[in-house]
Amino acid sequence: SHGQSLQQELAVALTPDNREHRQKIKEFLQSSDLFLPKYDLPLSSERELALHRLRAVCAMGALSVKDFRDNPQRIFAAHEEVGLCDGSLATKMTVQFNLFGGTVLRLGTEKHFGEGESFLRDIDSAGACGCFALTELGFGNNAVQMQTTAELDERTDEWVIHTPTTVAKKYWITNGACHSQWAVIFARMLVRGQDHGVHAFLCRIRDGAVGQPGQPLPEVGIEDMGHKMGCNGVDNGILSFHRLRVPRTALLDAFTQVDARGTVRSTIKKPRDRFLKVA
Ligand SMILES: Cc1cc2nc3c(=O)[nH]c(=O)nc-3n(C[C@H](O)[C@H](O)[C@H](O)COP(=O)(O)OP(=O)(O)OC[C@H]3O[C@@H](n4cnc5c(N)ncnc54)[C@H](O)[C@@H]3O)c2cc1C
Repeated sequence: SHGQSLQQELAVALTPDNREHRQKIKEFLQSSDLFLPKYDLPLSSERELALHRLRAVCAMGALSVKDFRDNPQRIFAAHEEVGLCDGSLATKMTVQFNLFGGTVLRLGTEKHFGEGESFLRDIDSAGACGCFALTELGFGNNAVQMQTTAELDERTDEWVIHTPTTVAKKYWITNGACHSQWAVIFARMLVRGQDHGVHAFLCRIRDGAVGQPGQPLPEVGIEDMGHKMGCNGVDNGILSFHRLRVPRTALLDAFTQVDARGTVRSTIKKPRDRFLKVA
């Protein structure tokens, strides 16, 4: 009938790609009590529920950071299906796979992916939970002017990541308050006194094994931003760094490389353009 064909056309329009996969996700979300709405939860329970749901969605294979290589629409399809169920879960998921995982994949090189890409698998399971630390209190839309620094210490072959002022604290960092062991930290890269613009660094911010949140590292300040108007399953945090030392290899170096002697090579000439490429 006309009604049925209209329904089919609508279904096609609303699910333009990865149709079977979307159906599998829908059925999974419907099959478990875990995804039933829950009301009046304390803040900490709401956050743990969102993480628990995220790990369940990961375990059923709804998406992989590696999809960015061969089927990016599969990732966006998973977002659309999961977003219908729980906004907090979808927000945590997009930071884990898109902002954190996607940045590691696109700006990183083989050494960042782990032995046999084991780190990418840990991202896929959300056993390695990550955040994306770009915004600073004084630098949101104008993040290109951020103040956090990553200075190369050639004697120890390390970057020293530092928050020089209050307005340089990283604000609103999703997954930052409770769950992230890892962060992609954006900072001005300083080598031999020269500012090379904003670059991204893959760093631990909490200790603990895969799947365990662990404790914040002593050089990392983490403040909880608490309740919001909505999506309270998302843990937003304020991060600051007190001379956090990370190996030189922490630089996500697909576009800019720095060797042990402090020689900087970049395929992007202007520092401002480097920001536009990485952020
Ligand atoms: C729930 C939540 C989660 C977030 N998660 C993350 C995260 O995981 N990682 C992260 O790095 N950041 C995160 N952010 C921060 C977010 O990216 C910033 O809030 C955003 O970039 C805007 O920056 P701002 O809040 O400093 O606003 P501002 O840049 O101060 O802007 C304030 C207002 O001024 C306007 N404005 C600013 N500049 C101009 C201009 N030049 N011309 C005209 N109008 C202008 C803006 O449109 C806006 O209305 C999150 C924010 C929220 C609310």
